Amino acid sequence: MVATAYVERTSDGAYDGIAPDAAWRDEVLELARKQDAVILAHNYQLPEIQDIAHHTGDSLALSRIAAASDASTIVFCGVHFMAETAKILAPHKTVLIPDERAGCSLADSITGEQLRAWKAEHPGAVVVSYVNTTAEVKAETDICCTSSNAVDVVASVPADREVLFLPDQFLGAHVKRETGRENLHIWAGECHVHAGINGPELAERAAANPDADLFIHPECGCATSALYLAGEGTVPAEKVKILSTGDMITAARATSAKSVLVATEIGMLHQLRRAAPEIDFRAVNDRASCRYMKMITPTALLRCLREGRDEVHVDLATAERARGAVRRMIEIGQPGGGE
Ligand code: SF4
Repeated sequence: MVATAYVERTSDGAYDGIAPDAAWRDEVLELARKQDAVILAHNYQLPEIQDIAHHTGDSLALSRIAAASDASTIVFCGVHFMAETAKILAPHKTVLIPDERAGCSLADSITGEQLRAWKAEHPGAVVVSYVNTTAEVKAETDICCTSSNAVDVVASVPADREVLFLPDQFLGAHVKRETGRENLHIWAGECHVHAGINGPELAERAAANPDADLFIHPECGCATSALYLAGEGTVPAEKVKILSTGDMITAARATSAKSVLVATEIGMLHQLRRAAPEIDFRAVNDRASCRYMKMITPTALLRCLREGRDEVHVDLATAERARGAVRRMIEIGQPGGGE
């Protein structure tokens, strides 16, 4: 069966016009098979994209799968920096993203040029970048980190060296508090979804649901504000579980709590409800939805496979430098992202 033609929606510009029905599913899977493509979907993707993907997970886990896969083509259903990271780790594979306009407000909060200027102000400083950064920024970075190992990565830098930490100010503040390091400079970047997960709301939701666990999945910048607030004591420490994707699913199956508040982008609820349907999972803020993630529509995925677009390119010299920073991240502490 072949799905019908698609049109481009004009309201927000996302590709639309094809329903995720059986014909769509058959065509997507058949095209992927013919093209030797593996479909990867981030946890914050639309449910129908998660359901058709060969693998779901967070950005680091998916990049590792991309590098280890036998498939010659990677279709990365996520945002652009994630597809770039897959290309950095798998430079000889074709990496496609269904809509290259799917950006990330956190990754876009610092450019390579801005980082070079910041480095010039602090000669000799060690640059530590959260994984939500462009390939160009990673190439200017000494060590990348995830939110799971950010504290370990910064602690691995000799105490007398200045550290430039970017781009997430909440994760930076969390690391500064945990390490007590005065010579840590923090870039004032943030994710637009942060605004939906604020302190008073988090405290109010926790107080209204005293028996609920609070799961924080910090691998995407949208939940780093919750990570910071939990460390500040805004919510009772024993209720807070800071978990990678795989651990969150395991904890959902293991908890005796009947309800769980989830502080992250709302796409994660789909995986959790599938893993433990008897638990009442609720978003701390159900407006915490990333519009960039939702640009990967069923239509966009079909267009991607029909037309081989949009291809992600990272020049080899940039990829080589960026790969060093990503590899050092994987070597230090527990980078998380395990699926
Ligand atoms: S939720 Fe925030 S950090 Fe994550 S991709 Fe969207 S804009 Fe970027």
